[in-house]
Amino acid sequence: MSGTVGQVIHCKAAVAWEAGKPLVIEQVEVAPPQAMEVRLKILYTSLCHTDVYFWEAKGQHPLFPRIYGHEAGGIVESVGEGVTDLKPGDHVLPIFTGECKECAHCKSEESNMCDLLRINTDRGVMLSDGKSRFSIKGQPIYHFLGTSTFSEYTVAHVGCVTKINPLAPLDKVCVISCGISTGLGAMVNVAKPPKGSTVAVFGLGAVGLAAAEGARIAGASRIIGVDLNPSRFEGAKKFGVTEFVNPKDHKKPVQEVIAEMTNGGVDRSVECTGNVDAMISAFECVHDGWGVAVLVGVPHKDAVFKTHPINLLNERTLKGTFFGNYKPRSDIPSVVEKYMNKELEVEKFITHQVPFSEINKAFDYMLRGEGLRCIISMEE
Ligand SMILES: [Zn+2]
Ligand SMILES: [Zn+2]
Repeated sequence: MSGTVGQVIHCKAAVAWEAGKPLVIEQVEVAPPQAMEVRLKILYTSLCHTDVYFWEAKGQHPLFPRIYGHEAGGIVESVGEGVTDLKPGDHVLPIFTGECKECAHCKSEESNMCDLLRINTDRGVMLSDGKSRFSIKGQPIYHFLGTSTFSEYTVAHVGCVTKINPLAPLDKVCVISCGISTGLGAMVNVAKPPKGSTVAVFGLGAVGLAAAEGARIAGASRIIGVDLNPSRFEGAKKFGVTEFVNPKDHKKPVQEVIAEMTNGGVDRSVECTGNVDAMISAFECVHDGWGVAVLVGVPHKDAVFKTHPINLLNERTLKGTFFGNYKPRSDIPSVVEKYMNKELEVEKFITHQVPFSEINKAFDYMLRGEGLRCIISMEE
């Protein structure tokens, strides 16, 4: 790889030229990393709902042409000036949010919301100079979430790149860079269910199932899965979900159904759909005296959370979390280790695999709601 250091790399990338239109594999130029940046060779990437949401560009500010992708695994090709934490050959996961290690949030043990590198879905350029590192015959192509992993090579800020165990298989642990850590961390870092406790998980997509997996790892004795789609119930059993509630099957609010099933409420609940009514149910279904509800799903911009304050006075706790409260560089290597020591099972999240040339199939699977994660292999 040393032959490419300091040079523009010509490689393949899947470019989104227009909202909702299939990606096109193009020959792109990837500029060398500038100060505090690293250039990565991406080996595997997977598709997450956030990519699809911004590719569809319904509602948000559209930014095209753009290279999407933020769940991935790769190897450092070269590093820019001032980078001391990473060197060529390191195995890494790029992360859609960052950790500068300097700001008040990074210095706080309680926060992972870095001032400098916190997720910014509107930014399509690098922080240092406001320019893109991608181009096609001189035309700049925008970045996405500072990661843009649907490319054989990409450039990221060093604060958005996590160095991991080189023995970890990148075709598996790439899924740890977003969805799995978000759900798992919400459960193990924020909800913290005691051993033997009863837990409810709202939404049984990849993030909700990762939360269930966290409850299973924590030793919860009952894990109640709540979803409007009953076809998800059978598959959720693999993630430790023991009981299912479909709100459509009941006349009364789902929080009342759950309270009846659990003699007053669950000990912990985690909400992963972003639907505000589900958020309210997830809060009101926890037991008074000790119950904790954690919100993970991103709500509609106009949503308002309403509950009677007595629900809080009766010693229920409501919390929210971002990226499972994990600090990308400090904490994510330990999630990879959980996989390496067989505590966390990531294989069961991986339901499809396609070569890079067929990346649009991964979008089709997700749009049809088929499976959980599709791994896209860059080396065909
Ligand atoms: Zn994601
Ligand atoms: Zn910071």
